[in-house]
Amino acid sequence: MSLKGKVAVVTGGTRGIGRAIALELAANGVDVAFCYAKNVEKAKEVESEIKKLGVRALPMQSDVSDFAQSKEMIANAIKELGKIDLLVNNAGITRDKIIMMMSEDDWKSVIDTNLTGVFNCTKAAVVPMMKQRSGSVINITSVSGLVGMAGQTNYSSSKAGIIGFTKALAKEVARRGVRVNAIAPGFIDTEMVQAINQKYLDEMLKLVPLARVGKAEEVAHVVTFLASDQASYITGCVINVDGGMAM
Ligand code: NDP
Repeated sequence: MSLKGKVAVVTGGTRGIGRAIALELAANGVDVAFCYAKNVEKAKEVESEIKKLGVRALPMQSDVSDFAQSKEMIANAIKELGKIDLLVNNAGITRDKIIMMMSEDDWKSVIDTNLTGVFNCTKAAVVPMMKQRSGSVINITSVSGLVGMAGQTNYSSSKAGIIGFTKALAKEVARRGVRVNAIAPGFIDTEMVQAINQKYLDEMLKLVPLARVGKAEEVAHVVTFLASDQASYITGCVINVDGGMAM
């Protein structure tokens, strides 16, 4: 894919889907800045794996739910790597509970990280993209935001919000050469899904026509495609990577 020489920022790049995205972009010649919440050791590992692929890596400990930190994180990526061509809003958390048990903090922390985090990072990145008349924003939403999942009123709301955000922004910035798309993964084999009760997961997998969990790399392939010129006529779109679960 035609990505050589581009610069990407991936939020939540230290583990799971974000790590796979960072490494696949690097393998395609992209310089990769990534942020994370607290896992410094994992960040060092990903930094060295990216550098082994012959491109620049920039790890940044920065909380996407914090407006000022996100602004500084994007500005720092541009300062160190020269520009920003691609933002992948991947950082996300779950605090699953039925609504009777869900605290205000469970609600706020998920909305602040998953939805406000997308606003914070995108607001900082999209202005330089519009000025250079090119760029791509890819938001990682979820099947949970499409169909709603019991026990996830906070998470489903945040992910449905991301879909509205994606479509509204795609319309705002298209004429400035910036494309905005979303990917909705189903069950992907990461620590987030490994934390789910196995019996519940087995039940959920009965709803997946391809009858298995997905791999983080299978999400990363779609990011690479959407970021490339091969996807130059695609904006405001949500691509499911879910084994057919939400069709
Ligand atoms: P993981 O829990 O494996 O990794 C989450 C990543 O996000 C880590 O790098 C973590 O950093 C980072 N992160 C968490 N909170 C913040 C924050 N406030 N600021 C900056 N970074 C943060 O998640 P997955 O790889 O499973 O999920 C990635 C994305 O994909 C999420 O948005 C998730 O909602 C979405 N998704 C996942 C699915 C799945 O089945 N796994 C299905 C559908 C959607 P640190 O290591 O420092 O904690």
